[in-house]
Amino acid sequence: MSRSDDLSIEAEKVIPGGVNSPVRAFRAVGGTPRFVDRGRGAYLEDVDGRRYVDWIQSWGALLFGHAREEIVQAAVEAARRGTSFGAPTEAEVRLAERIVAAVPGVDMVRLVSSGTEAAMSAVRLARGVTGRPRIVKFEGCYHGHSDGLLAQAGSGLAAFGLPGSPGVTGGAASDTMVLTYNDLDGVRAAFEADEDTIAGVILEPVAANMGVVPPTPGFLEGLQELCDAHGAILIFDEVITGFRLGAGGAQALYGVTPHLTCLGKVMGGGFPCAAFGGRRDLMEHLAPVGPVYQAGTLSGNPVAVAAGLAVLDLIESLDPYPILVKQAQRLADGLAESFERAGIPVTINRMESLFSVFFAEGPVSNFLEAKASDHQRYAKFFHAMLDEGIHLPPSGYEGWFLSAAHGDSEIQKTLEAAADAAARLG
Ligand SMILES: *Cc1c(COP(=O)(O)O)cnc(C)c1O
Repeated sequence: MSRSDDLSIEAEKVIPGGVNSPVRAFRAVGGTPRFVDRGRGAYLEDVDGRRYVDWIQSWGALLFGHAREEIVQAAVEAARRGTSFGAPTEAEVRLAERIVAAVPGVDMVRLVSSGTEAAMSAVRLARGVTGRPRIVKFEGCYHGHSDGLLAQAGSGLAAFGLPGSPGVTGGAASDTMVLTYNDLDGVRAAFEADEDTIAGVILEPVAANMGVVPPTPGFLEGLQELCDAHGAILIFDEVITGFRLGAGGAQALYGVTPHLTCLGKVMGGGFPCAAFGGRRDLMEHLAPVGPVYQAGTLSGNPVAVAAGLAVLDLIESLDPYPILVKQAQRLADGLAESFERAGIPVTINRMESLFSVFFAEGPVSNFLEAKASDHQRYAKFFHAMLDEGIHLPPSGYEGWFLSAAHGDSEIQKTLEAAADAAARLG
């Protein structure tokens, strides 16, 4: 019995499934999760003293790897001056200014503590502004676990085979229309049938919770036109893509500016800090200026904000993106080559540094196709890699997350382990 196995047993007695977020539990791949003792750069060290190259990076929150000195330092210094005030601070203004400067669609921004809160609040704002009840989302896109957004929501749920969740009322679910990603005609038809009831459309502009699925050419532009034509709010959930595909997120990359944007993960530097923002006239519907209520005791928390500012400083001074893209390409190409050599059908979808591995002939352009890939083979691959000290995301519906701390040697190690694993799986 390893210490991780012991801790799993103890954890399951007091925490449902032994984890505080379901994907951590390895249910999609089997086995027991590794309990982490510490992280440094590209590596995790578990409680049994084993080291792993970490391709999860807190599910994309760590653009500069674990325990990056500048970020830790900023958080420690902030904590010494007080960990929460319930009153405004200068650092919040500076972080908001930086986000506004970086993200094209954001004139004003409100800080929150999680991506769930950001998406939930953006949807409330869209409803409050338009006075309409319904939200269009896409199957396989995840926007956090708030009631109305949990319908057919990708990775976590997909791994468990749950269509939605008990506890979500019919009322909440019926205000959510779930359509097919990359199917613009479906959205057009929905607007033609229900124009007066649709408050907005929310999506991941590059989907990354059904594995990585980029938008097909014209999809984002088409959504923008439809929303403009029908008086609906276009919401980009850039909780993963924001500050990962580039400082301006997917919207800068594709040149499509949404009305509202959700941010999280990278911008918090590994701390609970997220945001939603958008056009000034829309954001000014929020209390205390307008009537749409939204609040948080720990919103704009000084420790998290200090970490967020430190990350944005690093992004500005280091411009990590060109190297991240190059490394991701090397990794994805190397993986593809190993699987092809072993005669294993594989489709690797990649957008900039964001990619995922589908064991399928492809193409994979929506959730149905993502689901049809061989997830049992992914589970075997996952464990073969884990045994070699490579910690992949424990589900084929998740992206692989590169950080600036992953260098040539981590990529080399990963490719060598993958070549061995592929040969054995083939
Ligand atoms: C992770 C994620 C969320 C939820 O963020 P939490 O901080 O886990 O609440 C929302 N949207 C997307 C696209 C995400 O990847």
